[in-house]
Formats: sequence, C-alpha cells, structure tokens
Amino acid sequence: MTERKPLVLDQVVVPAGTYKVVHLPIARLTSGVEIPLPVHVFHGAKEGPTLLLSGGLHGDEVNGVEIVRRALSGKMLSGLECGTVLAIPIINVYGFLFFSRDVPDGKDVNRSFPGTPDGSLASLVAHTLSTKILPLVDFGIDFHTGGASRTNYPQIRYAKDDPRALELARAFGAPMSMPSSLIHGSLREAAHKLGVPIVVYEGGESMRFDSFAIDEGIRGIKRVLTRWGMRTKAPKPRGLADRHGRQSKRVRWLADNSWVRAEASGLFLPLRTSGQAVEEGELIGRIHNPNDSFTVKIYSPMTGYLIGHNNMPLVHRGDALFHVAAEETEAPQID
Ligand SMILES: [Zn+2]
Repeated sequence: MTERKPLVLDQVVVPAGTYKVVHLPIARLTSGVEIPLPVHVFHGAKEGPTLLLSGGLHGDEVNGVEIVRRALSGKMLSGLECGTVLAIPIINVYGFLFFSRDVPDGKDVNRSFPGTPDGSLASLVAHTLSTKILPLVDFGIDFHTGGASRTNYPQIRYAKDDPRALELARAFGAPMSMPSSLIHGSLREAAHKLGVPIVVYEGGESMRFDSFAIDEGIRGIKRVLTRWGMRTKAPKPRGLADRHGRQSKRVRWLADNSWVRAEASGLFLPLRTSGQAVEEGELIGRIHNPNDSFTVKIYSPMTGYLIGHNNMPLVHRGDALFHVAAEETEAPQID
C-alpha cells in the first residue's frame, strides 16, 4: 500500500500519521505584536476525509472555543483511524482578546467572507480561511453560541438544500437540528460555494460557559468522526424530552421558527426555558413594570420547542425573548 501523502498548509509539510500546529500569519495588534492564527493539523496515517472544527469566529462565543480545545486535548484527534482534522479553537483571535464578537474595528468576520488580501482586518481573517483552509477540507463544523445575553439550546443549523449538510447534521445528532439559510458573507456560505458543507453548532450564550452545551458539542464531534470511519465508537444522541417531560432518545428536526419579542419594557421573568416543549398559547413568561403598575403575559406563538431564550432580567420593548421552533412532522430525508 502506498503511503498517504503529507498535508501541506501554508508551505508547512505535515507527514501522514503526525500532528503539527501551523501558525498562519494575519496581522499585528496596534502595539506591533504579531498575532497569528494557530491551526492544529491531525493528519491521520490512512486515507480519509478532512474535517474542519472551528470556534471563536465570534470572539466572545467561548463555548465553541472550549469545545475545540477539549477536542484537541486527550486522544480524540491524535488517534484518528483515518482522515485528517484541522482544528482552530479561535478564528477571531482579535475579538477574543477584547471579549468581543467582532474584530477591533467593529466588523463581523462572519459577514466578511470570502474576504480580500487588502481588505480590513475582518476581511483579511476571512480571506486567510477562504484561501488556505477551505480548499483543504471536505466538510466542517463551526461552533457558535447565542449572541449577547441570548442562550441557545444545543442545536445544529444546516443548509436546507444541501444533502451533505443534512447528512452531517444527522451524524452529529444534536438534541435539535433545523435548516437555516446561508447568511451572506458567512463562512458557511463561502464554504458552500466551494462545495464544502459546513454546519453551525449553536450552544449556550456568549461569555458564559455552558457545560451541557460543551458536552453535547464533544459528543457530536465523536459521532461525526465515527460516521466517517475516523473513530471507532461514539456516544448515542441524548435526544430531547417530550412535552410530558419524558426523556426520549429521539433528536428533533425543527422547521418554522420565530422570535417572541417584548411588548413592553421592564423586568423579564421567563417561566419556561430552552429545550422545553411548549404549546401554542401557553404562558411562557411575564414582563413586570418595576413599580408594579402593569404585567404583560408572554405566550408561545406555536406548538414546538423553545430553542433559545434571553437571560437578561431587564428588557426593552422589541427585545428578543424566546426563540420558538415547530417540529417537522417527519425527519428530513437524504435523497
Ligand atoms: Zn456566532
């Protein structure tokens, strides 16, 4: 049998059956210190697909950073049966340093793809990924959390018309999965244009560790590795409890979804939490005026699941409070 070819990333040669960290140059901080982008390359001894695991595309979404870090530690990736994993714990190092979603000039890297070599910092980070990483990978999982104080129950978002993204979502086996259109300028869209399916994992909220979301992320990676023969065993999906609170191993495929917004400003007290089943018209929270001059009741607009909610105790009129999604009548099929 001929030996597997080495992987070459930015002129660094990684022989088959070895591990290397490749530091991609991007830019310097204003102080003059160069901040590279570390890419952990696990190039297995046997032929197989190349999987991208990335976190911190939004610098304050620390659960994704921790999921990729935890995947790097231990034997999960160093003992690959076949194939290759490129793992990037923090794509937006610049935002991460300042506890920020965006790069220091205020731009969102995940709206800057495919990027240009002479663009702004966000565009430069995007360009580096588009030209140096995406051409090497077959598929990927990009780890995110809810923005600001909003938390997401562990879920996979996939491009509806891409059967390979659906297959990836199915293999990951998050408690819930739902189709989500490709956002213009996102990593997922840029990869899709290159024929590389990337699914987004959402779990927890920014700047707050969520051990359940981190654990679900790791379990999902193990299942994806196993599905493509890169690992021999993985834990079964946990699924979601049904509306009577009975735990089920069945993962939920969701479709129509919408945010319930605050009809008044005040103190927000949720009565239900993400991951719970709700019925249309069910009371799920209240907003109280601090002087107790009024209370606004919040009802679920549909029967389905709460897939995210706002943890801010004080809200303004119009703020997003609960993200609700209806369950598909049957799991989507791969043609
Ligand atoms: Zn994000």
